[in-house]
Amino acid sequence: MTTQTQHTQTHSQRHTEYPQYTDRTVTTGPTERERRHDVVVIGGGTAGLSGALTLARARRSVLVIDAGQPRNAPADGVHMYLGREGAPPGDLLAAGRAEVAGYGGEMLSATVVTAERGPAGDFRVVLDTGATVSARRLLVTTGLVDELPAVPGLAGLWGKDVLHCPYCHGWEVRDQAIGILATGPLAVHQALLWRQWSEHITLFLHTGPEPGEAEYEELAARGVAVVEGEVTALETAGGRLSGVRLADGRVVGCRALATAPRFTARAGFLAALGLEPVGQEMGGHVIGSRIAADPVGATAVPGVWVAGNVANLTEQVIGAAGAGVRAAAAINSDLIAEDTRRAVGARRHGLTPASAPGTGGGPQAR
Ligand SMILES: Cc1cc2nc3c(=O)[nH]c(=O)nc-3n(C[C@H](O)[C@H](O)[C@H](O)COP(=O)(O)OP(=O)(O)OC[C@H]3O[C@@H](n4cnc5c(N)ncnc54)[C@H](O)[C@@H]3O)c2cc1C
Repeated sequence: MTTQTQHTQTHSQRHTEYPQYTDRTVTTGPTERERRHDVVVIGGGTAGLSGALTLARARRSVLVIDAGQPRNAPADGVHMYLGREGAPPGDLLAAGRAEVAGYGGEMLSATVVTAERGPAGDFRVVLDTGATVSARRLLVTTGLVDELPAVPGLAGLWGKDVLHCPYCHGWEVRDQAIGILATGPLAVHQALLWRQWSEHITLFLHTGPEPGEAEYEELAARGVAVVEGEVTALETAGGRLSGVRLADGRVVGCRALATAPRFTARAGFLAALGLEPVGQEMGGHVIGSRIAADPVGATAVPGVWVAGNVANLTEQVIGAAGAGVRAAAAINSDLIAEDTRRAVGARRHGLTPASAPGTGGGPQAR
């Protein structure tokens, strides 16, 4: 068999786009094929690491598989995470990985391409490396993709000057000229929301619907300017947003542009398990897709839990952390019930706990 050392690589080798991911060593390759974990966590953002920390502290064998692209990577800091206000996103996750590892949790840098039910009822998770891992339970915390409006120059400024959440970024652009790029029926609501952070708000109607009479009155009452016409490009100066160019050639200056991406759960790899995304609504309008689950993250497929943005598109970092902890506790309870059922069955057949088959990974050797 090939030694584990030969399959060892660092995060910095696999994730050059996120150089902060250099804090740990990970393993890939066939050695994983023989491993059966109590829980495999798919996605190592805040939700996944919080779940993994809870499970590792509950003495469960846990493996986190992470593709290394957390949603807020473009942002300078994480806001509203009490005790770590403004921390760089990479620093928060690096600290989380160290905490998980401190309790024996393992991490693997890879992308899950599919997950399916194995013959013994376990889950079989297939990685882009070709390796497979198996688990008694799955915690899916893969987040979402922000599908941005197709305006030239917009994607390059995402997370810096093109923004979606005023709670995440409003303070940083307070009192500045802020544009709202309308693409759907929630644009007026968005303009009135951002008005809390600045008096200089311009609503670009772009491809959004014409506001109704009552909405025009509200916008006028709050001093929000409305500009008709399609936005064709974003203008920059020194790499920062300076204005919005319209189809008729006009350029309207602004320092930040708020938009509403479509939020799409990263969940395609769950199709083989029969889990398909469903729409999530806000104010009666579909804002994207998520995997449906109960309040602790249990999905329609027994043994599969979800937490964070993959389950709730509007979850913030601290909420994703809480959801990961809740789901992990529910998974641990479920495993305890299974371990107890098996122990009772073994006892009735006169087997000792140590010789009873299938009682799981059990406490880690710590
Ligand atoms: C620009 C921006 C700034 C933001 N700022 C803030 C803020 O200041 N405060 C705040 O509270 N919220 C903020 N948010 C929201 C925040 O990003 C989310 O709440 C948070 O990332 C959700 O955590 P998560 O663990 O669910 O998902 P993520 O953080 O996105 O983590 C998911 C992880 O799963 C991995 N993954 C995905 N698919 C696979 C796969 N198939 N196999 C293996 N791994 C996979 C990804 O690579 C990623 O590492 C911001 C969002 C954006 C876009």
